[in-house]
Amino acid sequence: NVRVRFAPSPTGPLHIGGVRTALFNYLFAKKYNGTFVLRIEDTDQTRYVEGAEKYIIDALNWCDMAYDEGPGKNETFGPYRQSERKHLYKQYADELIASGNAYYAFDTAETLDFHRKDHETKGKTFIYNWHNRLKLSNSLSLSEEEVKAKLDAGEDYVIRFKSPQDETLHLTDIIRGDIKIDTNILDDKVLFKSDGMPTYHLANIVDDHLMEITHVIRGEEWLPSLALHYQLYKAFGWDAPEFAHLPLILKPTGKGKLSKRDGDKLGFPVFPLEWTDPKTKDVSRGYKEDGYFPEAMVNFLAFLGWNPGTEQEIFSMDALIEAFDLSRVNKSGARFDPDKTKWFNHHYMQEQNNDDLAELFKPIVDEKVNEIDINYIALVIGLIKERATFVSDLWGLSHFFFQAPNSYDEKASKKAFKEGTKELMQELVSIINGIEDFSVENLQTKIKGWITDNEIGFGKVMMPLRLALVGALQGPDVFDIMFMIGEKESIKRIETAIA
Ligand code: GLU
Repeated sequence: NVRVRFAPSPTGPLHIGGVRTALFNYLFAKKYNGTFVLRIEDTDQTRYVEGAEKYIIDALNWCDMAYDEGPGKNETFGPYRQSERKHLYKQYADELIASGNAYYAFDTAETLDFHRKDHETKGKTFIYNWHNRLKLSNSLSLSEEEVKAKLDAGEDYVIRFKSPQDETLHLTDIIRGDIKIDTNILDDKVLFKSDGMPTYHLANIVDDHLMEITHVIRGEEWLPSLALHYQLYKAFGWDAPEFAHLPLILKPTGKGKLSKRDGDKLGFPVFPLEWTDPKTKDVSRGYKEDGYFPEAMVNFLAFLGWNPGTEQEIFSMDALIEAFDLSRVNKSGARFDPDKTKWFNHHYMQEQNNDDLAELFKPIVDEKVNEIDINYIALVIGLIKERATFVSDLWGLSHFFFQAPNSYDEKASKKAFKEGTKELMQELVSIINGIEDFSVENLQTKIKGWITDNEIGFGKVMMPLRLALVGALQGPDVFDIMFMIGEKESIKRIETAIA
């Protein structure tokens, strides 16, 4: 029974690295008919950001990755906010002290700073571990009475994990295989603080255990914590879940980790949704507001670290669930390519229903022209969307379906309007006038017939005609345009062009 969790800290908007982690968890859960849990890791209240939790949930929903269990939903293992589970953690810290796996430490920030600097001047790094802990102020170096006195006096303390000396830990990661760690390089990590709050490490392990998580799928930045997490499970006598650490997401250049700041700086979104910083009021763009379809973003994110092992690139969510496997996730960093998202968006644009697109496009049309029927907009979209990547591209590709050109491209005019063009266009108007049933087919046969019968040459007619209708030598089929704008408007535009 697979149970996975996405465990973000509400310290700001979710960026694509976070969404990718959520997606891989979601796919894995769905693939094995498991449960996708959302847990909010808000033990560090100093980093808490107003609105971040709502943003995370909105973003998951927009991507169609709704959680099965979490805040406000199927709370069997709840609560799902660590701040609401605060009362749970102390007993586990106490348990580790009782079993000799953890200890109280009373060192002040100044003392620790002093040791760090002192080591630095000697070219060494200070590690709070077996080698140094007896020189410091903690329950391993002080007498029982001293410790009791300090605790009774209400001195600030932390509870640290007692990392073993001279041991080799054997860890397993689904993506990276076996990892060996020499415990002498580990420090005695803080698990609990005298303000009553656990640190990430303790809360994370306790909650994964209590919530019966079977697989921990998270970013590579947590790999250095794996040794401690393994030891915690062992110290508690609990079975550890399986671990999979996803590769880093690299900047488009391939050099360095993609950061939250890269987006606006380099001109592409790194957030699924727009985010307004509650303090500075700075707005960062989001994929949604930039006109991306969630399907495009999900498809693109799936390929950041995973591939199906075939040439296939287009995957719906269902297809991803079917094809996804952790064994096909790479160890090496995945380069973020913003142009590829556009490529996916162009694809998913074609897949959208024209009526749905018309709903999205209508507000843009309404700003420019009055009272255009939504069905007309949908028909127009059908003729031009092939060349659109975003809904915001549509107006530039279709304005001539809604209004007559107010100018003619200069270069194109020189090319299209030659001697005799005016007369030809006048003749064309009478041909058009003679068409009884104004259908695309009739327009085509009548006008083409007239051109060939009189050996006029297609360019001589079609170029000025297109220019008259569109204002430039671009756009979809001329007969489609004429049919859409109708007989009267077609004639009017031709007459205007030659006036
Ligand atoms: N709260 C951690 C984060 O923000 C969770 C790490 C984990 O999944 O263990 O990424």
